[in-house]
Amino acid sequence: MRIGIIGGGILGITLGYFLTKQGVKVTIYEASDTLGGLAGPIKMDGYNIDRFYHAILTSDSHLQALFADLGIADRYRARETKTAFYQQGQFFEMNDMKDFMTFPPLSLIDRFRLGLTIVYARLERNLNRVEAINVEKWLTQVSGRRTFERFWRPMLRAKFDGSFENTPATYIWSRLNRMSSTRSGANQKEMAGYLIGGYITLIEAMANQIRQAGGEILLKTPVQEVVARAGQLKGVQTAAGLQEFDRVVVTMQTPLFTRLTPGLPQDYRDFLGKTDYLGIVCPLLVLDRPLTNYWTLYITDDSIPFTGIIETTAYIDPKDVGGNHLVYLPKYTVPGSEWFKLSDAEVRETWLKTLEQMFPDFRRDSVKHMFVHRERLVEPIHPLNGMNLIPSMETPIKDLYLVNAAQIYPALTNGESVTRHAREATEKLLKTSLPGA
Ligand SMILES: Cc1cc2nc3c(=O)[nH]c(=O)nc-3n(C[C@H](O)[C@H](O)[C@H](O)COP(=O)(O)OP(=O)(O)OC[C@H]3O[C@@H](n4cnc5c(N)ncnc54)[C@H](O)[C@@H]3O)c2cc1C
Repeated sequence: MRIGIIGGGILGITLGYFLTKQGVKVTIYEASDTLGGLAGPIKMDGYNIDRFYHAILTSDSHLQALFADLGIADRYRARETKTAFYQQGQFFEMNDMKDFMTFPPLSLIDRFRLGLTIVYARLERNLNRVEAINVEKWLTQVSGRRTFERFWRPMLRAKFDGSFENTPATYIWSRLNRMSSTRSGANQKEMAGYLIGGYITLIEAMANQIRQAGGEILLKTPVQEVVARAGQLKGVQTAAGLQEFDRVVVTMQTPLFTRLTPGLPQDYRDFLGKTDYLGIVCPLLVLDRPLTNYWTLYITDDSIPFTGIIETTAYIDPKDVGGNHLVYLPKYTVPGSEWFKLSDAEVRETWLKTLEQMFPDFRRDSVKHMFVHRERLVEPIHPLNGMNLIPSMETPIKDLYLVNAAQIYPALTNGESVTRHAREATEKLLKTSLPGA
């Protein structure tokens, strides 16, 4: 069997790897000159650095199984990390029960209800209930109105670039559950991890296996059209011509799929068109010294333009990235957001000025590089009762499959859930079940 896969991100490459292991010949098309997509690298001073911040958790069992399978488990490192909150010019650590119970912006009773929210999220298993209730209503019921206004509302506004009326409680429920899973050992310390060399270490290890087994990975080869006529798949059109396959799998974001495939029936296109995505403007600062020493600084302060501060060298050993300190300053954006219209120079100036206000010791001469990365289609926005908007892997075109991160729900989209999704897709495509993760 020959399968064509469009997209050389983690999803496309993992799918190609699993299919290759089952004896399938794959051809993977990637538009850019590097693999990895959102998890791809930039090269800096001879080191690979993830364009966007990535943590791999010790509880990410599918990823850990892949590392073992590929012989790269010795390149995984994990460290205890810290998180904090920034509110009204002050920093508050939030690492253990003691921090929780003494968090000054909230009263004792509000803090108690905040702690209860985490326990409640762990115990709640009725997905239908969580996805039918708005995130504000759910959090207000569990945490209380004051905690919602002071703590959750600013964070939700930052994440959703303003409005979150149609956002189900699954959004916060999945996050609270994932973050709980990072806490290990009797002292429940938070852990975060990484692969030396970044996510591309994993992606290249899989790509090498695909190539060795005779599969093709074509970089700088944008697919121009997935050609289908009258419900029949004809092939994949690139600048080199039309290539036929037994099956074709599209792994990119849904709007890219509809744009590439004019032969899709109109009612199916309308259905797919209901899925929106958050975008991101995400400067990466390369510093000669640490900034916060926190993995994540959550910002619950409306005056700050970015959503949080993620310092990945709080868990990545700086010597693995050339002795540098890496700080990402993401701003999530809704479609059509004004933030997307800022030039790189405007983003740099606004972000650096804000850092100077937040950290009086911060000096611009500590910045060795500042990259501004942007992507329009980063995270699918699942609306209330959105389960029935999730497309299945089969499409109306015979032998054409859609396997993308918008189908991952209510789990968050990350390397762990994406590789699990690739496994499920392999089983579906071959109608077989693979050995356990
Ligand atoms: C800011 C941010 C933070 C994140 N944090 C974490 C984290 O801490 N931990 C974690 O595990 N995950 C994290 N993730 C999520 C993770 O990066 C994504 O879930 C994952 O990379 C998605 O992979 P994908 O293959 O589904 O999509 P993509 O990476 O988008 O891959 C799609 C690929 O298709 C290619 N393509 C597009 N059009 C064409 C065409 N016409 N022809 C050929 N190729 C085409 C693109 O170039 C791209 O390479 C984060 C993501 C972001 C953006």
